[in-house]
Amino acid sequence: MKKIILTLQTSIKKRFVTGISIMLLPMAVLASAGYILFENVIHSFEEAKTEAVNEINSIAILQKLILKAAMPANDYLIHGETWERQTFNSISKEVDEAFSTALGMPFGLQEERSLVMSAQKEWWTAKAMSERLLTFHNPVGNAAASKDMKLLDNRTYQIVNLLERATKLAHDELHMEISRAYALKNRVSLLIAVILVLGLAASVIIAIALSRSILNPIRALEEGADQFAAGNLSSRIALLAKDELGHLAKTFNAMAEQIERHEKILEDLSIHDGLTELFNKREFTRRIIDEIARSKRYKSVFSLIMIDIDHFKAVNDTYGHQAGDEVLKAISAILKRGIRTVDFAARYGGEEIAVILPYINSEGAYEAAERLRKDIEAFKISISKEKAIQVTVSMGLAVFPDNADTDEKLVTAADKALYAAKHAGRNHVQIFKGLT
Ligand code: GH3
Ligand code: MG
Ligand code: MG
Repeated sequence: MKKIILTLQTSIKKRFVTGISIMLLPMAVLASAGYILFENVIHSFEEAKTEAVNEINSIAILQKLILKAAMPANDYLIHGETWERQTFNSISKEVDEAFSTALGMPFGLQEERSLVMSAQKEWWTAKAMSERLLTFHNPVGNAAASKDMKLLDNRTYQIVNLLERATKLAHDELHMEISRAYALKNRVSLLIAVILVLGLAASVIIAIALSRSILNPIRALEEGADQFAAGNLSSRIALLAKDELGHLAKTFNAMAEQIERHEKILEDLSIHDGLTELFNKREFTRRIIDEIARSKRYKSVFSLIMIDIDHFKAVNDTYGHQAGDEVLKAISAILKRGIRTVDFAARYGGEEIAVILPYINSEGAYEAAERLRKDIEAFKISISKEKAIQVTVSMGLAVFPDNADTDEKLVTAADKALYAAKHAGRNHVQIFKGLT
């Protein structure tokens, strides 16, 4: 039988719970890490985008207001209307507020702030220039005023230009943030892919390990059970695991042990005689047939001795049936002790015992029979605490193939010799001399 030795200590339930937890762990890590990372990416991207958009918007407002602020001085030089001064004042206030709003923003780049601050300084000059232009008395067609107006236009252009550069920086910053967000997104995707692959690999390994740790012992159990069912009662399951299957194997082995023991007892009972513990007649019949087959095969001889207790009826009648049983048991024990291990003694009938002596011819058998007869004759059999008796036996012997060519004929020949021994006065060994 193929032996599978496993030394698993943990229960299947525990193994399953642990295995599945390990399989689920990467998935849980993946889900939470993915969620947190994506939240962060989206949040930081949103923040950067809002910041850049706010900067761009407030600079755009500033640009518009700066251009608008140049208009009253221009109009004043064309039409000469004094209410342009009020218009300028209110626009100028709006520009100042717009600058302080813009500079109050958390610029991502310091350069952006410096550009807006430079634009503010330029605006202050431009504001002074506008205010001066708006104080000219005859502005329409005034050459000096036109000259100053050009200077103001240049200044306005410079401010718009400075703000344009700041807008460009804000745009660059926005693009940078977008690229950063994409890079982060790619890193997160890669991380998720790695965790996923590792998780899958771990799941596959665990699934294989789990199924092996269960299927191999089941195969061992199956194999052991098959062997047992096929009739090999000595087969056992070599499974040392301390889990549920190990327990099952242990129980199976204990059960097999018990069945094997009972089977042996039954087998023993079926071939032995209960009183004398010698083999029974059925086993004798089987054995004599085997012996004849073997003798024929090896062209060897064997002897059969039929033994009968002399006047056994009188023992029963005098001392009781139980005493008779004791006598039968004692004689059987003497016979068992007195024969070789290859010899075979069986209770043939009531108080008749048959002994087969393989490879022994009539001389050898006679010698053995005489020795046994003398042993029995000399033995004092205790039939009660105080009483011991002695009995004798008569024996008839026949040899195969010299005296018979079948088992039945051999038994008849030995019986015949036994009958002759009785006639010769009992306590006697008689060799078969022929049927007449
Ligand atoms: P013989 O010398 O001619 O053999 O005389 P015998 O009395 O032995 O002959 P018989 O065959 O007439 O008697 C055999 C007796 O053996 C009869 C029977 O009651 C007794 N017997 C047979 N089996 C048992 C047994 O198991 N126990 C006891 N106690 N007696 C048995
Ligand atoms: Mg007798
Ligand atoms: Mg008899």
